[in-house]
Amino acid sequence: MKILSVNAGSSSLKFQMYEMPEETVLISGVFERIGIENSFYTIKVNGEKIKKEVELPNHEIAVEYLTKELLENHIVDDLSEIKGIGHRLVHGGDKYADSVILTEDVMNTVEELTPLAPLHNPANLVGVRAFKKAIPDAVAVAVFDTAFHQTMDEVSYLYGTPYEWYQNYGVRKYGFHGTSHKYIAGRVNEILGHENTRVITCHIGNGGSISAVKDGKCIDTSMGFTPNAGLVMGSRSGDIDATVIPYIMDKTGMSIKEIDTVLNKQSGLLGISGVSSDSRDIEAGIEAGNERCILAQKMYIRRIINYIAQYYVELGGCDAIVFTAGVGENSINVRKQIIEGLQALGVKLDEEANNVRGKETLITSSDSSIPCYVIPTDEEVMIARDAYHFSK
Ligand code: ADP
Repeated sequence: MKILSVNAGSSSLKFQMYEMPEETVLISGVFERIGIENSFYTIKVNGEKIKKEVELPNHEIAVEYLTKELLENHIVDDLSEIKGIGHRLVHGGDKYADSVILTEDVMNTVEELTPLAPLHNPANLVGVRAFKKAIPDAVAVAVFDTAFHQTMDEVSYLYGTPYEWYQNYGVRKYGFHGTSHKYIAGRVNEILGHENTRVITCHIGNGGSISAVKDGKCIDTSMGFTPNAGLVMGSRSGDIDATVIPYIMDKTGMSIKEIDTVLNKQSGLLGISGVSSDSRDIEAGIEAGNERCILAQKMYIRRIINYIAQYYVELGGCDAIVFTAGVGENSINVRKQIIEGLQALGVKLDEEANNVRGKETLITSSDSSIPCYVIPTDEEVMIARDAYHFSK
């Protein structure tokens, strides 16, 4: 059965088409700069990567190119062969603990949740509507970034703010990257050979979050009401004392909007180093002896270690730690420093095994108290699996 996995952002649209249940990728691609000049798309098909520069005034046009490519490359002979389309939706609030069929009701609810994800939910819905129009017979399925974290209890998800903020305005921790955490937690349980596990999943890319997963269910996560919370990230601050905000407003005259931009786009590795949000640039800066790059990476790593230590206690021990996403899968040096920082827990790195990028690997030695793994994440296949589930 042909199933599409879709991730629509405000100016981009990523897709992968699978043959299910085999999970074979038939074609994949990304449309970029939608609604902006110099738009283009790249597709990977039959082992070839093709780039085409085309005008993409909106998502509907992007979907038209996509369907044209599917037909021209004989991935399908008729669009009715596509039985299901899974859409990544960022925010399901506390309404969805699992994936659901995207009925009009669900779409309205996602729309109502827009204040919680003002940039993401509307962009996701534009993608959903474009596909509904182009391929109306396929079952459309919503796969929420927040869903996996809905198993947290209120002790974990509430902030120490007035309870009415939660009741009246939905102020609580929601957590993000859920599809990725679910995938790597599931995969490590397969490796461990059972489901009764205490696992710490570290999704560290440009954005980053860590989750505590008990028996396959999330009990805590580092992102919060928005993806700004938790770790020091590429350009997001992560946890700060909230009263810094009125203080800086008072000192600088900045507006709430400006501060929001600084906390999300000009903080983290970028804000501390003054060099870049990209961890590769930070590593290059460190090699060149740049003190602020050294400091930025130390803070980045310290925060990760602290969350792992916290979740170790919260889980009552730990059966595996997993690293994934851009930095987690590729930065040998960052992983090494994190694991060295966990010495007090008896975690021991296998330097040779850790010399790996983007490949599922056990990176700790046999006498390590906790095995640590690199597991490349695969959110697309999770989206396809859920879409397949509803389309069978
Ligand atoms: P996003 O949150 O945007 O999905 P990714 O998961 O793609 O981010 O991660 C991007 C981050 O991964 C960047 O900071 C980048 O520097 C880092 N990264 C990618 N490849 C490497 C590498 N080979 N070594 C170190 N860091 C890497």
